[in-house]
Amino acid sequence: MDFAYDAKTEELRTRLLAFMDSHVYPAEAVLEQQLRDAADPWERQPILEELKAEARGQGLWNLFHPEHSDGLTNLQYAPLAEITGRSPHLAPEALNCAAPDTGNMEVLTMFGTDEQKKQWLQPLLDGEIRSAFCMTEPDVASSDATNIATRIERDGDDYVINGRKWWSSGAMNPNCAIFIVMGKTDLDAERHRQQAMILVPRDTPGVTVKRAMHVFGYGDHAHGGHAEIEFADVRVPASNLIAGEGEGFAIAQARLGPGRIHHCMRLIGMAERALELMCRRVTSRVAFGKPIAAQGVVHEWIAESRVRIEQARLLVLKTAWLMDTVGNKGAHTEIQAIKIGTPSMTEWVLDKAIQAHGGAGVSQDFPLAELWAATRTLRLADGPDEVHRMSLAKRELKKYL
Ligand SMILES: Cc1cc2nc3c(=O)[nH]c(=O)nc-3n(C[C@H](O)[C@H](O)[C@H](O)COP(=O)(O)OP(=O)(O)OC[C@H]3O[C@@H](n4cnc5c(N)ncnc54)[C@H](O)[C@@H]3O)c2cc1C
Repeated sequence: MDFAYDAKTEELRTRLLAFMDSHVYPAEAVLEQQLRDAADPWERQPILEELKAEARGQGLWNLFHPEHSDGLTNLQYAPLAEITGRSPHLAPEALNCAAPDTGNMEVLTMFGTDEQKKQWLQPLLDGEIRSAFCMTEPDVASSDATNIATRIERDGDDYVINGRKWWSSGAMNPNCAIFIVMGKTDLDAERHRQQAMILVPRDTPGVTVKRAMHVFGYGDHAHGGHAEIEFADVRVPASNLIAGEGEGFAIAQARLGPGRIHHCMRLIGMAERALELMCRRVTSRVAFGKPIAAQGVVHEWIAESRVRIEQARLLVLKTAWLMDTVGNKGAHTEIQAIKIGTPSMTEWVLDKAIQAHGGAGVSQDFPLAELWAATRTLRLADGPDEVHRMSLAKRELKKYL
């Protein structure tokens, strides 16, 4: 078993690390200032456009997409996505590798018609527009996606959509031009065949972006916000349907596997950044006559953080390797395992880093508080921990039944 990254990965890592140092970290304060000064904070800020142009020029673009990244495998992409996780509000989007666009691009690549690809996939690959994935609804427990109540009903050459969604990430940004909406086409079909997915342009009559959902009080402006959206008698051509009626659940499953591992890759980068900040802080401050770093309890936090990060990274890499070798289906158990384990690991490391910073840790002067808020949401988004545990446990028990 060879644990080393291959030459291609190392070469890209070196270039990406240099890009982070020269462009991304210095841009963090600029983004904050631009968000403070912006007339519309949901708009994409100029610094992001500058970073995107630079990253694209350097060939650090669409690295998540095998067809558009010189065939990078999941295993090769994992350490690169990890690096972008160190600055999650800037780096993933700068490289055009941000959720939910990556998942939406994968859906269009796998299931889109030529016309859908031309109209929506290409501008997404070019980073010209953004997109949202509208599955979750305020009125039903959406961790069970069969509950989704939005209707997509055929009417002549059109489909008519009625329903209410929330937590549609990115959709507050006016540049988010296309929504992939999940709803039911056939209430009489088998439970997992009632759903479909359909493309709804933002400017279609009947679409109303109602409000932004906040995350522990943060607007998540850099990500384009999380919107509540109403669809009232929204009419789109039948050709906007993705794949076919009854395919919605299968598309959701195909979309969520890679999305989950991408989140986990980035979470490892967040944990690394938290550990680095913790080590720098405790070696630079003195309390009760000695550096905070000299306290045994701090040694425990640091050692335990290193162990937990390495454990999670190894499992994420193994999962990526399985996805490459036996496919997403074959890696199902491992994808669930990392989705259960990684957000909690990063949340734990961030909590210790915050504690080691004292009051500064929860303040706006360090990225820790916002990173913690973002990490905490990943125990809910893309499926709550409990649902993944239920499914993983059932699979494990099957061996004994
Ligand atoms: C920051 C953020 C971004 C998001 N982005 C998107 C997006 O872009 N698009 C989108 O469609 N959705 C998005 N979501 C929504 C997210 O996927 C849902 O919140 C999640 O699937 C849970 O659905 P729910 O909120 O309806 O919770 P519910 O279904 O009401 O569940 C509530 C709780 O019940 C418990 N529970 C449920 N089932 C079980 C079980 N079997 N066993 C034990 N306990 C259980 C869990 O603790 C769960 O958290 C986002 C959410 C957040 C917070």
